[in-house]
Amino acid sequence: MCHSRDAAEQVKAQLAEWLAPRGLVFNEDKTRIVHAETGFDFLGFNVRRYRCGKLLIKPSEAAVRRIRARLREEVRALRGAETLAILRAVNPIVRGWSAYYRTVVSKEVFASLDSYLWQLTYRWALHRHPKKSKHWITSRYFGRFNTAREDKWVFGHRDNGAYLVKFAWTKIVRHQLVKGASSPDDPALTDYWANRRRRSAPLPLDRATMRLLQTQKGRCQCCGQLLLHSDQPPQSPTGWEQWLRTTRKAIKARHIAYQGTKTPDGVQLRLAHASCLRRRKASGNGNSA
Ligand SMILES: [Zn+2]
Repeated sequence: MCHSRDAAEQVKAQLAEWLAPRGLVFNEDKTRIVHAETGFDFLGFNVRRYRCGKLLIKPSEAAVRRIRARLREEVRALRGAETLAILRAVNPIVRGWSAYYRTVVSKEVFASLDSYLWQLTYRWALHRHPKKSKHWITSRYFGRFNTAREDKWVFGHRDNGAYLVKFAWTKIVRHQLVKGASSPDDPALTDYWANRRRRSAPLPLDRATMRLLQTQKGRCQCCGQLLLHSDQPPQSPTGWEQWLRTTRKAIKARHIAYQGTKTPDGVQLRLAHASCLRRRKASGNGNSA
């Protein structure tokens, strides 16, 4: 018993090491550690060690519930909107989520999310054309839009050919752990995390911005509030992906901006709310250092 408790703690330590460079941390209160054989969840993963010594990591059930809820909300909110609005809203979510989970046991989950998304888009289309037949709906909105795939059930836009990507299109790159690995500090496990780290999908922001966000812990240089969220920094992989996506958008839309501060070493860049910078300037308290 004690042993498996230790095992869980050690696996957790390795996971923490993997998370750190990505700006993710454990929230001890929210991480329920149980015996490794029972498995434990954190940040959207379920980690479970089987009796044979094999460690399996999957998207956690809670994470799957969250992504389903999010897809549902996004599609519902766009009732009556253009097809392209659906693609714009949903594609980044699918890409981000599947990229994050592509290195764990996700194949079944990806397939189930694709069929869920199919239902959502089908219902969305029915709602948009209440008087049309089901056949009309399917032939209008579904087709082999992605010619590289043998899949005629892709949701897309008839005229411009844009389409909804699928979770299952993201290739799963699993690093098989050596069977019989008896201890979590087994070199096989260390390799596993090293590989995971190397192969993790690039985050959708440039390195410089990522570094600033991490240095500032996501907070505005001027007011100290979070740059984008009023509640708290992301506590899950999906939250993090979403947060990055929003950040990129916000920079593009100039909701948040770079602030240069002169230091003896040159100009130091920081991120701040554009509104905070404007307010500073207006009050004559601009950055004149
Ligand atoms: Zn601010």
